[in-house]
Amino acid sequence: MTDITINQVDKAGVLPTDKQLGFGNIFTDHMFVMDYEAGKGWHSPRIVPYGEFQFVPATIVFHYGQAIFEGMKAFRAANNQIAVFRTKHYLNRFNRSAGHLCIPPVDVEEVQAGLFKLLELEKHWVPDTPGTSLYIRPFIISTDGYIGVRVSNTYKLFIILSPVGAYYETGFNPVSIKVEDKYVRATKGGLGQAKTPANYAMSLPAQAEAHTEGFGQVLWLDAVHRKYIEEVGTMNIFFKIKGEIVTPELNGSILGGITRQTVLELARNWGLKTSERQISIEEIYEAHAKGELEEVFGSGTAAVISPVGELSWKGQRIIVNNNQTGEFAQKLFDFVTGVQYGSVPDEFGWMDNV
Ligand code: PMP
Repeated sequence: MTDITINQVDKAGVLPTDKQLGFGNIFTDHMFVMDYEAGKGWHSPRIVPYGEFQFVPATIVFHYGQAIFEGMKAFRAANNQIAVFRTKHYLNRFNRSAGHLCIPPVDVEEVQAGLFKLLELEKHWVPDTPGTSLYIRPFIISTDGYIGVRVSNTYKLFIILSPVGAYYETGFNPVSIKVEDKYVRATKGGLGQAKTPANYAMSLPAQAEAHTEGFGQVLWLDAVHRKYIEEVGTMNIFFKIKGEIVTPELNGSILGGITRQTVLELARNWGLKTSERQISIEEIYEAHAKGELEEVFGSGTAAVISPVGELSWKGQRIIVNNNQTGEFAQKLFDFVTGVQYGSVPDEFGWMDNV
């Protein structure tokens, strides 16, 4: 593994107070960078001050979107230990996304070593109040200065860090969801299972319309039949129906969430029946009509668990669990965040100490 060079800032910045922390608007002093050239591979891993980069206007990523990213978190436990949640799972997904965009894969060990070196340097940027964390954003952009649709020969990998505030400052607040019947997020054979900017750009009009109509998020249906449930906003979705935990199978158009995997592993470990399968929106409305729909919640790195209190599909509204957070959602949230902040033993080996 190549040595990581470090170019430190003259004067380290100061972590803002919890009140000043939002999401994704404050960045730490340094970032990790690495370059790729065809024939040479990934090279020159380095830590440099966080700051501007120059790219020529023809840089291929600005035009054709050949880029990928990840989103993961580091936490500070009460004993001041800093640890990252399931690092390798996120970095392996980074490489799977790379494959979908013809981006050369990274050496996961090398990127993890770079990330941990960066975290060591930026330890004082990890906030300590429950709910707060240091968000980690690795990304790769294609950097050839070229106008034309083809695979780039050069790339840059960055890892930037952002201290983030508590997602739930006043406790859970179940969200109301619009079941999207006009726009689609992804198709089989497309990019839905990759974490790539195009998937987020195309979600903007649906999200904007849903907000105007008073909904917090959209529930995406499949692109072909417009009936099978895929994801909710930028989260995976779970239903508890007659005691069983059900989530859409990873069918090629859904992003395989690390939190989704964690929820499934925990549910199985706790002895609950789980299934990953096709679920139609009609099935959910029928289960609700029969009184069998017990809970609905989203899962993702940012919120961990996000209870859904209401669904609206073609104007038909249903209220889930009296718009209250379900017992299972609460138990999952308490367990996962407990492990993340060190108050619950890490019996599954999720945390990687820095
Ligand atoms: N789906 C999409 C589209 C997402 O952007 C995310 C967030 N990464 C998720 C699901 C949840 O994945 P994870 O649990 O790995 O954060």
